[in-house]
Amino acid sequence: MAVDTITDGVVVSLAYVLSVDGEEVERADANDPLDYLHGAGNIVPGLEELLEGKRVGDKLRATLPPDMAYGDYDPDDTDEFDRQLLDIDVDLKEGMEVEVEDEDGYTYVATVSKLTNDTVTLDFNPPLAGKTLTYEVEVLALREATEEEQAHGHVHFNGMEEEDY
Ligand code: ZN
Repeated sequence: MAVDTITDGVVVSLAYVLSVDGEEVERADANDPLDYLHGAGNIVPGLEELLEGKRVGDKLRATLPPDMAYGDYDPDDTDEFDRQLLDIDVDLKEGMEVEVEDEDGYTYVATVSKLTNDTVTLDFNPPLAGKTLTYEVEVLALREATEEEQAHGHVHFNGMEEEDY
C-alpha cells in the first residue's frame, strides 16, 4: 500500500537543520537523511505533531519551546561521583559526553559538568534541555513501517537493528 501522508506507523525520511540561538547544532542532508517511525516518540513531540499529515516535498520551519522539545532544564538532575569509583577509561573534560551504566545495566548519556581532582559531576539532562529549537525540515520520502518496526517502535535499516549496522 502506498503511503502519501504522514500518520502513525509511517517511516519518514527527513532532511533537516536544527538551530539553537541562530547556531546550527545538527543537520541531516538529503543524501544522509534521518529516518524515523512516526507516532513512536522517536523525535521531539512538537516536531512530530507538526509533521502529522504532511506529504513528500513539504517543507516547514518551526520554533519549538522546551516543553515541545527536550523539556525544561532540571538543575537537580546532576550527581557528583568519586572519580576513582567511576570506571571511565578516557581523559575527562568538562562538556564531554559520557555513557554510564547503573547497577541494573541501564545506560545513560551524561555530560561532564564539573571536574575536580577527586570528583566528577555528571549532568543527566538531555544536552538540549531548556533550549528553544528551530527546525527547518523537508519531507523526502515515506513508506509503511514493517510489522517488526511497529512492534519495536523504531526504524530498521534493510531489516537490521540500527546498532547492528
Ligand atoms: Zn528493532
